Amino acid sequence: MDKKRIKKKLPELLELEGIIYRSKHPLTVTKEALVNVGDIELPIYCIEMTPFNKNLPTLILSAGVHGLERIGTQVLLSYIDMLLSRLPWDVVIQKQLSEMNLIFLPIVNPGGMYLNTRANPNGVDLMRNAPIEAETKTPFLGGGQRFTSHLPWYCGKRDDDMELENQTLVRVVERYSNQSPFTITLDCHSGFGLNDHLWFPYAYRKRPIAVLDKLYALKLLLDRTYPYNHYRFEPQSLSYVTQGDLWDYVYKRHKNTQDSVMIPLTLEMGSWNWIKKRPIQALSIKGLFNPIVPHRKRRVLRRHLMLFDFLCSASIAYKNWIPKKKNKAQIYQAANQFWY
Ligand SMILES: [Zn+2]
Repeated sequence: MDKKRIKKKLPELLELEGIIYRSKHPLTVTKEALVNVGDIELPIYCIEMTPFNKNLPTLILSAGVHGLERIGTQVLLSYIDMLLSRLPWDVVIQKQLSEMNLIFLPIVNPGGMYLNTRANPNGVDLMRNAPIEAETKTPFLGGGQRFTSHLPWYCGKRDDDMELENQTLVRVVERYSNQSPFTITLDCHSGFGLNDHLWFPYAYRKRPIAVLDKLYALKLLLDRTYPYNHYRFEPQSLSYVTQGDLWDYVYKRHKNTQDSVMIPLTLEMGSWNWIKKRPIQALSIKGLFNPIVPHRKRRVLRRHLMLFDFLCSASIAYKNWIPKKKNKAQIYQAANQFWY
């Protein structure tokens, strides 16, 4: 690897490798794929905090699907770093990690991040690239387009396979979620709106998802645990409908039986807030999707630690809060009324 160029264009990758290298705790690290940008090969890393155990619930945290949205990756890196600092002495963290699988995919689209583009190096928007057609009308261009990779939100050619980055993410998520009794995935993005959203599928249709009862139970649990939390927890289709949503696809492929539940979430950090406080940063692409002022960036890096911690606890104790068979229909109906 050309370290000098990577240091300049993709410091997050070197930071991640530094964290892995310095870790005294034995992480399981795999290079899942190599993405080519010109003569440079960039790895997609997967990290298991402790060796995967198929009998335990799983939390998968991913980021960097959109190369411009670097803050998602930075939030995960600071979380990994914090865990590694605490693991040697903090018995609570040690116990937590002995009762769950915690998996990270911190840079899903290293080529896009290197090039500072939303899309991957082929010009494809990975969140519009899955083989799923929207049921209703999508926003012009923004909902996904097949005209040209020179415009944003390009889905790729209709009959092509999914892009390498997406194939990698699907393979990794399925490797864990198909074996684990319970999985939550959280994919970190930034850019939409003033608020931080916790979105769940579907994006391709306005009708509800089958695990709506569990999502509602999780939302109530979050609100009860942190009454002043600031997340807008809702289906993505309330904001907009898109073609080819990656998490719609991952969720639809999952069997979702009683013995293997999957709850897919996306964290969409509202970047318009950072722009509202400092309008000049709207003039740069980086500023549209990332906090620029150091104190604001530090605040964002801290802001979601509580959420990650909550999702760890919720995964470990899923049997204590997912709706029992006899309440399922009732909770599903309440959720339907609340969101749809
Ligand atoms: Zn995004």
